[in-house]
Amino acid sequence: MSTLYWIRRDFRLDDNPALFYALQQNCKHAVFITAYDTWRTHNHSGIQIDFIERHLNWFSDELTKLGIKVTVIECNTFDEQREKLTQFCRSIGASSVLANSEPELREKVRDTKLAQTINLTLYDADTILPYGSVLNKQSEMFKVFTPYKKAWLNVLKQQGFEQTYLAAIPPSNNEVTQQSQFAFNYEKQDSSKWPLAHEFMQHVLPRFLTDKVTDYANDRDFPAIKGTSGISPYLTIGAISPKRVIYDLISYYPHILEDMKAPIFTWLNELIWREFYRNLLLSFPNLNKLHDFQTKFKRFDWPDHHEKFNAWCNAQTGFPIVDAAMRQLKQTGWMHNRLRMIVASFLTKHLLVDWRLGEAFFMQHLIDGDLAANSGGWQWAAGTGCDAQPYFRIFNPITQSEKFDPDGSFIRKYLPELANVPLKYIHQPQTYLDSIGDKSYWPQLVDLKEARLQALDYYQKELNTDE
Ligand code: FAD
Repeated sequence: MSTLYWIRRDFRLDDNPALFYALQQNCKHAVFITAYDTWRTHNHSGIQIDFIERHLNWFSDELTKLGIKVTVIECNTFDEQREKLTQFCRSIGASSVLANSEPELREKVRDTKLAQTINLTLYDADTILPYGSVLNKQSEMFKVFTPYKKAWLNVLKQQGFEQTYLAAIPPSNNEVTQQSQFAFNYEKQDSSKWPLAHEFMQHVLPRFLTDKVTDYANDRDFPAIKGTSGISPYLTIGAISPKRVIYDLISYYPHILEDMKAPIFTWLNELIWREFYRNLLLSFPNLNKLHDFQTKFKRFDWPDHHEKFNAWCNAQTGFPIVDAAMRQLKQTGWMHNRLRMIVASFLTKHLLVDWRLGEAFFMQHLIDGDLAANSGGWQWAAGTGCDAQPYFRIFNPITQSEKFDPDGSFIRKYLPELANVPLKYIHQPQTYLDSIGDKSYWPQLVDLKEARLQALDYYQKELNTDE
């Protein structure tokens, strides 16, 4: 009887406990199992699936060199996954299956059901500190980020993090005779502008850690500058381990944990946000179903603003920073964090559209679409979430634009129709365009002042009704 390694979101040799133990048990088989319909229901973007496919092919070749044969089993749903995996185990005589865990609720339910029919062992490998290891005095998960962060740092300093599996599986120098060419039957979008994880780790991350992370605190808010790491797609699909990232960060900056005010700490802070949101998913399972975190929003009745939502999706709001951001999303499959905050605030406050619609649209287009971070970010922006921006704080897209795209270069890049608009008008070009009779750009969808007051009024009314 043998061991089967089930590849999930862990396309890596580094820090991969399931693969490590499978190899120790002389594993000769691995599977990757699709779930096309479930992926569609979960809004997995075509660009993310393409990115996964490329990593699966690379990983499959690495496993072949280690003497493991990879089989892709095509399924549409999690139920089908269970049936076909059980059959596959029987066909190869596998008595146990090893995999790395996934924190999302439906994945957990699937695994619980599977464990009734097969011998399934799961390892946690997608966070720096183990799930549930950072708790408040009542042994509960924190609901506010700052105390979570402090406790997280204390745990890290006192207990360190698991390093056993880092570099425990050296890549093999064996040759593969034929490269893997699995192709998913899914509506894919080309992801080739993003290098494979091993190239990113070799060329991009070291440069970020040596040259850019020290300026991150200043540069990270300006979408026209490449001031952030660009690592989110890799962390999301598990092609890079977060433990590897913090290990490298500490190697470059051994005192980083001591000085929360140091500019480089700002980047670590973001990695801790990732851990925070992932732990919230586990501790508050309703978040997986996109319930509002704050129960006072339970009966919040979002108006049906479909036309406004469509204008937002189609980059036709007449607010250049919002429209340029939405074009960045649709053209590249990625959007800068500052812009994610601006467009999410605009949709949920100025346009009064249910955050769940924006959340789904992001998932359908983002290469790094991730339930925990995405729904966390949306609930933060809408004011419904854990440690959220309060509903009465509303970003003004024009002042945000003036502050974070001061020379308009990001706007001009994605809205070439505004390329010749003088700087003075770039953040709000309507008066200028009218004066030259140019109709190539949209009028503003809402009057900002009015929409803001309406939003405040509406939120207040709905929340009071609920009490
Ligand atoms: P860097 O600035 O270099 O940060 C490093 C890493 O820290 C990121 O890769 C990410 O893993 C983590 N991180 C940074 N900011 C956050 C954050 N606010 N919350 C959680 N983790 C964070 N991130 C996703 O990975 N997937 C999503 O689907 C997603 N959706 C979002 C939706 C909204 C409305 C908002 C406001 C934020 C969202 N984020 C999401 C968080 C953030 O925008 C991205 O992680 C970041 O832009 C990725 O770029 P980067 O890798 O260059 O980040």
